[in-house]
Amino acid sequence: PPRPPSPEKQKAAPPDPPLPRQNNKTTPPSPPKVITDKNRILEFHRVGFLGEGGFARVYEVKDVRGTRHACKVVTKTSLKTKKAKTKLYAEIKIHRSLSHPNIVRFYECFEDDDNVYMTLELCHNGSLMDMLRRRRRFTEPEARFFLVQIIGACNYMHTHQVIHRDLKLGNLFLDSNMNIKVGDFGLAALIENPGERKKTICGTPNYIAPEVLFDTANGHSFEVDTWSIGVILYTLLIGRPPFQTKDVKDIYTRIRDNVYEFPPERRISPDARECITSTLTPDPNQRPTLLEIIASPFIDYGIVPPFIPMSAHDAPPDFR
Ligand code: ADP
Repeated sequence: PPRPPSPEKQKAAPPDPPLPRQNNKTTPPSPPKVITDKNRILEFHRVGFLGEGGFARVYEVKDVRGTRHACKVVTKTSLKTKKAKTKLYAEIKIHRSLSHPNIVRFYECFEDDDNVYMTLELCHNGSLMDMLRRRRRFTEPEARFFLVQIIGACNYMHTHQVIHRDLKLGNLFLDSNMNIKVGDFGLAALIENPGERKKTICGTPNYIAPEVLFDTANGHSFEVDTWSIGVILYTLLIGRPPFQTKDVKDIYTRIRDNVYEFPPERRISPDARECITSTLTPDPNQRPTLLEIIASPFIDYGIVPPFIPMSAHDAPPDFR
């Protein structure tokens, strides 16, 4: 009979193959290692995986010159319905029209037989959500730094008739210099006629403005982004969103009734508190404008650091 393998041989045996994913979601096949368009003009080498969202997977790719980009990949099988196609075309049309230092740059869009590809500016430092998980909460100077850049990007979008509609920490990326890059225009809307109101209920529960949920007859407009900025500021300073509860229905009730609190142990400054409460004004017409937020005492009287050091990933920087 064959002898059992010697202990050394057993040790040298290859590791077990990874277990298949234990969920119902079918994982689409990976895009090719070398991604090219149909006319073979563009060529990117897939070098890593960055993350996945609702309907796309995002890879790190290298172009022929060696420059790294992010590449958002949408499978054509997920684009069978007219609705899905319209949604993707809207995202592409809006995102490629924007060019601002605090918005993820949109470079190319192309397809092969299986996928639609969008190459985007690579954000090396993840999202503010990833960073908040490590830090638990941010200092007021850091929050000011991020807020000024977010408002700059948002003001640019609004002057270009674009409402983002999904501003949240997970869509605020950080580049290699720790500057904000607003990304994911999957829910963005273009206001084509002045005074036009949007009626689609969309957004992420914690960040949704009350008029999106409760004034469906009237619709909503640019002020929904201002509301989300209030939610973002609260979340940066307190460490969790203001209306958060386990049950989504309860989140909506709290948003409707404007119920949230400032935990005393967090020692939020009166100026920060005032900035948050005014931005979270239920009536969109009474909400401050983006420029009014920038001119508020919280931003105007406080330290706005010139940059955020890399060390801030893990520990609060000292700006004094
Ligand atoms: P979806 O529109 O499907 O929600 P996202 O645009 O949010 O997809 O991207 C999904 C994930 O991919 C993000 O959470 C992030 O981890 C990663 N990602 C997206 N864009 C970039 C980028 N420009 N640079 C680095 N990582 C990115």
